[in-house]
This record gives sequence, structure tokens and C-alpha cells, in this order.
Amino acid sequence: MARFIFITGGVVSSLGKGLASAAVGSLLQARNYNVRLRKLDPYLNVDPGTMSPFEHGEVFVTDDGAETDLDLGHYERFTGVAARKTDSISSGRIYSTVLEKERRGDYLGKTIQVIPHVTNEIKDFISIGEDEVDFMLCEIGGTVGDIEGLPFFEAIRQFSQDKPRGQCIFMHLTLLPFIKASGELKTKPTQHSVKELRSIGLAPDILVCRSEGEIPAKEREKLALFCNVRPDSVIAAQDLKSIYEAPLAYHRAGLDQAVLDAFSIDPAPKLDLSRWDDVADRIYNPEGQVNVAIVGKYTQLEDAYKSIAEALTHGGMANRVRVNVEWVDAEIFETQDVAPLLQGFHAILVPGGFGERGTEGKIKAAQFAREHKVPYLGICLGMQMAVIEAARNVIGVSDAGSEEFDHEAGGKRFEPVVYHLKEWVQGNHKVARKVDDDKGGTMRLGAYDASLSPGSQVAEIYGSTEIDERHRHRYEVDIKYREQLEAAGLRFSGMSPDGRLPEIVEWTDHPWFIGVQFHPELKSKPFKPHPLFQDFIRAAKEISRLV
Ligand code: GLN
Repeated sequence: MARFIFITGGVVSSLGKGLASAAVGSLLQARNYNVRLRKLDPYLNVDPGTMSPFEHGEVFVTDDGAETDLDLGHYERFTGVAARKTDSISSGRIYSTVLEKERRGDYLGKTIQVIPHVTNEIKDFISIGEDEVDFMLCEIGGTVGDIEGLPFFEAIRQFSQDKPRGQCIFMHLTLLPFIKASGELKTKPTQHSVKELRSIGLAPDILVCRSEGEIPAKEREKLALFCNVRPDSVIAAQDLKSIYEAPLAYHRAGLDQAVLDAFSIDPAPKLDLSRWDDVADRIYNPEGQVNVAIVGKYTQLEDAYKSIAEALTHGGMANRVRVNVEWVDAEIFETQDVAPLLQGFHAILVPGGFGERGTEGKIKAAQFAREHKVPYLGICLGMQMAVIEAARNVIGVSDAGSEEFDHEAGGKRFEPVVYHLKEWVQGNHKVARKVDDDKGGTMRLGAYDASLSPGSQVAEIYGSTEIDERHRHRYEVDIKYREQLEAAGLRFSGMSPDGRLPEIVEWTDHPWFIGVQFHPELKSKPFKPHPLFQDFIRAAKEISRLV
């Protein structure tokens, strides 16, 4: 039977609750436990799939095709446990399930209420797969006191009562602001936050307090006394240079011991942190550096490309170099020359994206990389733009473009080298879509297999000719130009098993130019960098040595 850890936040948002949850997961693993992490988001969207990356950061995709919160990316990167559809839930999803049941008549004429119908739905969700793990960690999005969050807080309160005593604990993350003028660390906001939590029936067992420095004994005792927590369960979460030091830092601060104490687990199982020691050593002791330009659309908000930034860091760790990332807004190239801005980078990455804005700039970036033999990694839209570039500038299809942009503009302007995919095979069944389908959850989503050509660069990089990777897109490169493009040197080196959908293209007369229709960044881990990112950075490192 699993033990449950509920993680809540207070005072302000963006304190790193997801990271703290992920770090606790990794520390429990280091003590040889099985864990699963879950995110409960109070917003009313059914899932984050339709939310703007500017607003909500990246959408993280699971193998089973769920579009989830980016915190699930942290969970996977820290624990290596592949997240599932059932690890991410929102109020929107809960309410739509409850309303569906109501329409079906499942409630047999009862009046439907937040308690018990909505809270029961949340409780059922929390317990999915509870027999598979030793610890289930559930993070509640937002902060205590948010109106939408109330059903979730109520549900976890009830849940802990339903379970035998000692099977659930509560961890609350807050901020200790430092007032420079008086040189003091203030505990009052945390006291208020805990008071808020207690007013809805929840008492934290562990307080994790974000602070710039150490928490002096006086403040620690004050927090313990006023918040009714043991002094050694007041854990300092200091700012770190790298997020990957978090497991080690939280261990030093006593967090895993506090968790074991809260569950009365004694003696503590042996701890092996060697994985994280190695990760920290690679992060903090690079032997060189490379400069990578990410030419994208959502460059104002780093979280929009969270997994890509992390995967590049992992690639750097594998090669023992620091990766300096520069975000370049693709739109700039619509009015400015590419060369002065992109010269000096050891590699160029064009990430995924939606809509036409900035795409002409991405095409120029791909052309620059091809012509100047700069390592190029094109991900999803970044692959589609590389193929359009090749069609326009190498085989002379001057009006090559994507149907996505024609759909958006409502008129035909391009020869569709990238077209809207309406029917494809998933496992043993066919999936069909129409142009005017709902936007939410209707893309080609989740893990799909690809077959790689023996002897290709990617087959070598992967060390295999059979792979599976995660997808999230609606449009697809057309194979009608395959022969012409291959004759010109653009090899279609990865295809869907039925040979219809191009998964990978590579320029054969280029040191490293690869476009992938999927999102390799989603599967990269600090302790197991993705082979494409590892090799991309290796190529960048080689260039950096030449210049
Ligand atoms: N907009 C493109 C498509 O839907 C690419 C999507 C992406 O980059 N994730 O096919």
C-alpha cells in the first residue's frame, strides 16, 4: 500500500514546488523506494494543450499521449519514471467527467455538489495505481487560499482521513523574505500561510522554506512553534546555481530524513546518492563551453522551451561542457540579415511551434546552418522548416510551404510540402481527423515508433534502427518530394513503420544537420542524456575547437 505525500504551496507562486516534489521523489528513490509523482491543477482548462506557451510555459507530452503541465517534465527528469495520462489532472477535467456522468444518469437523480461528487472524483484520481508504488507524491498547483484550489485541498483532507493513520503526510512550501534594511528573515507570511491551511483542516508535517541563505536557529524555532511543526522538519530551500543540485541540497537540509520521520520509518533505509554526485560534478566542473542559438517564437518566456533547455544542459554534461544558450526571436530575420546574428554560434536549434509568425526567419536560420555547415537540430516545426528550406532553395520548389499557414490565413499561397495529416495508424488502429476538429487533444500525440535507415547518421547516434519518441503535431512532411530531396542529399533516414510519415531527415554532406518530427527533449534526463542532444553538443564542441 502506497504512502502519500501531498505538496502544497503558500505565500507566492513560482517557488519551485514542482522541483521540490521531484527532488523528494529522487531522494526516496535513492533510498530504494518506488515512487510516482502526480500534479493536480486547479485551473479550468481540461488540459494545458490549448494554453499559450507565453502564459503557461511548455506543454509536456507523455508516452500515452497526454498534454500535461511542465512540472511533469521535472518529475521525469529527476526520477526517470515515465509519467502517464493519469498523473496530471485539472479542475476542468474533473468537472467535465462529473458532468458527463451526470448527463449519463450515473448519479441516479442525486443533486451534484462539490462535496462529495467533485471531491470523490479527485480522490479516485489520487488513488489510481496506488498498489504499484511505495510512495505517491501529489503536488497541488497554485497556492493555498486560491478559490479554484479549494476542492483539491478538501479532497486531500478527506483522503488522509479515509486512509489508516500515518499513511499520508503534508509538505508545505513557502517563502521567507529577507528584508535588507533591517537584515531580517521574515517568518510572518509563512505563519499566515499555515494558518490559512489549518483553517481548511490541513496541518503541515514538513515546512520547506525558500530563502536566500541559511535559516538561523531563532527563526527556525519560531516557525516550528507558530506553525506547529518539529524544528527539524523546517527545511531550508536555498537558491541554487543549478536545479540538478536540488536532491543533494535537500538531503543536506534534512528533507528526506524529515519525510521518513513523519512516516515513522526507522531505521532509515540506506541512501545512495552517487547518481546525483556525478550529475553535480558534471554541472559544476565543465571543461569548456559551447554557444547554441535557439531560433524560436516563444523566446520571451524561457519556460516555453523548458525541456529543450534542460536537454541541451544534459548534452553538455555528457560532453563535459557548459552550454550557453542564446534565445533569438525568429521574427528578427524577416527584416535583418541572418549572418551577423548567427555567426559565432557553435550550433543552431530550431524548436517546435505553431502558426506562421516567425517561420520565414526559421527557414533562413536553417539555410544559414546548411550553407555554413553549422550543426543544426530542427525539432518538429524546426524539421518542417528545414524541409521547406531544402524544397525552396535546393530543388527549386519556390512556393514550398506548410498547409498550416494557409489554413491560418484562409487562402492558398503555398505548395504544401508540409500537409495536414488526417489519417494515420496508432498501434493497431486508425486515427482520423478533420480540419475543423476541436483543437484540444486532437494532434498526433504521444509515443510512436520509427524505423531508421541502417548506416544513417541517426542510426549510429541511437545505436539502433528501431526507436520510439513522443509526438505533438498536426502537420506532416509530404513524401511526394522524397526522391528529389534525397537525390539532392537530404536523406529521409527515419520513417514511421508503415513508411508513410517522415520522422527524421539528415543532410548527408553536412557534419550535423538533423531534423526530427518528434520531441526528443521530452525524454532526456541529467543522468541519461538523450543521444541526439548528446551528439548535437559533441558536434558543437568539435566546431568550438576549430574556431
Ligand atoms: N505546428 C506544427 C504542426 O502542428 C509543428 C508542431 C510542433 O512543433 N510541435 O505540425
